Amino acid sequence: MKKVKELYEGKAKKVWTTEDPEVLIVDYKDDATAGNGAKKGTIHDKGIINNRVTNHLMKILEKEGIPTHLIEEISDRETVVKKVSIVPLEVIVRNIAAGSLANRLGLEEGTPLGKTVLEYCYKDDALGDPMVNEYHIMAMDWCTKEELDLIAEYSLKINKILSAYLKDLNIELIDFKLEYGRLSDGTIVLADEISPDTCRFWDSVTKEKLDKDRFRRDMGGEEDAYKEVMKRLLGE
Ligand code: ADP
Ligand code: UDP
Repeated sequence: MKKVKELYEGKAKKVWTTEDPEVLIVDYKDDATAGNGAKKGTIHDKGIINNRVTNHLMKILEKEGIPTHLIEEISDRETVVKKVSIVPLEVIVRNIAAGSLANRLGLEEGTPLGKTVLEYCYKDDALGDPMVNEYHIMAMDWCTKEELDLIAEYSLKINKILSAYLKDLNIELIDFKLEYGRLSDGTIVLADEISPDTCRFWDSVTKEKLDKDRFRRDMGGEEDAYKEVMKRLLGE
């Protein structure tokens, strides 16, 4: 499969068309942004790590019955995926209070939540990805009730699968963001990425942050943290 034309350049990836109208190639960059683009930088080899980690986790999810956009990894930074029409929602799954939830509810970061929390944000950079609920989603017709129920069901199942998998690698899955899309026949599949850019990963023992918070919060050590995640997941 060959790249034909650049369709879109986002903050972390480029998306290319191919000869097949139903197929795209995503190309992961080292560029890092935070605070809705306010902070910009690069994390050396992040594109390679996020490409490989995403595909590794999506393969695990596929085996467990979650449909994903993954077709095939074709290089360190490039993956062939099924083209979807993105449901314009960021689905956030939370096990432990951190980041914006800790701020919003006045909780100390690291406070366990009594129940898994699902949140939806409208994917719109200009608006700063505002949090929305089911009523907003239905009112704006971003997806149907049936699609949203399936998205919620998949997201909770993904949380169970990934939390258990990562626990064995001494990684606590604090929270993460998912995106879904529709194939041309309407099937909802998991799209985009699952990586240290989009998940909070803490070392189970030391509680050390192994994710993009190191970059967002100017903590340093982000390259080593991303490498450590790849080492624990892929053994290299
Ligand atoms: P952003 O758009 O937030 O800057 P990226 O740099 O990660 O993010 O760009 C990748 C874009 O590709 C995102 O907008 C994402 O929703 C979209 N995308 C991810 N997977 C697919 C897919 N299978 N088909 C179509 N678009 C996709
Ligand atoms: N997240 C993401 N993209 C976004 C917003 C959040 O991948 O545009 C992820 C983030 O990495 C974290 C989870 O979603 O794992 C929850 O993020 P939060 O709402 O706490 O936002 P933040 O603190 O990053 O502003």
